Amino acid sequence: MLNVILRLLNEVFSLVFPQQCLGCGRELFATQKIIFFPCELDLHLTYFHLQHGAKLLYKMGLNPALKEVFSLYFFNKNRCIESLLYQLKYKGNKRVGHFFSQKMAGIITEKKVSFDGIIGVPLHAKRKRKRGFNQMDLIGTSLSASSGIPYCKDALVRTKNTPALSKTKGDRAQVVGNAFAFNPAKKLAAGHYLLIDDIYTTGATLNACSSLLFSDSRLELSIATIAYRD
Ligand SMILES: [Zn+2]
Repeated sequence: MLNVILRLLNEVFSLVFPQQCLGCGRELFATQKIIFFPCELDLHLTYFHLQHGAKLLYKMGLNPALKEVFSLYFFNKNRCIESLLYQLKYKGNKRVGHFFSQKMAGIITEKKVSFDGIIGVPLHAKRKRKRGFNQMDLIGTSLSASSGIPYCKDALVRTKNTPALSKTKGDRAQVVGNAFAFNPAKKLAAGHYLLIDDIYTTGATLNACSSLLFSDSRLELSIATIAYRD
């Protein structure tokens, strides 16, 4: 009964204060919470998870402790995906975090992989203070709530405040190499962890994080990102 009342209240609320599609700004129907259905169809799924992550596993250097690497969408200058990632990264939009984490949870269920924990790529403390949040915490907590896999918040720390973008792949690897450390206050138990990040671009950040995690031989890893940029 309470559920019915809450749903009705929600419907009335959305009639009075209609939500807008976070991709294109068009007004949404009450049943669509984040994104207009045609806009969602426009997001280009990579389907990397159906290819056993082969493409990205190969790019990451085929480590036997690295099990799966997948991205949800191609970052193909599609206005929608850019806009959604912007909302997540700079506005801390929880609805967007929920939207993406639901998609990730779907893939995890589909692949029937079990994880002992989720780890988000950390921001440097200075950048996190300035922004007020780490966007990967939004995905991690939401994914944890829907999948039951614990989110290991602050398991890693970023020790170097690296610039957001560098010109070449070589540059980037040099810049982010040794930029991460384990948080001594948050010891990880042995197990298979899912490392999450927003965009896979050169792979340098994820390589730096995973090399650190692989320095502990008790840990196995899979990687998931929201977008993949060629
Ligand atoms: Zn839209």
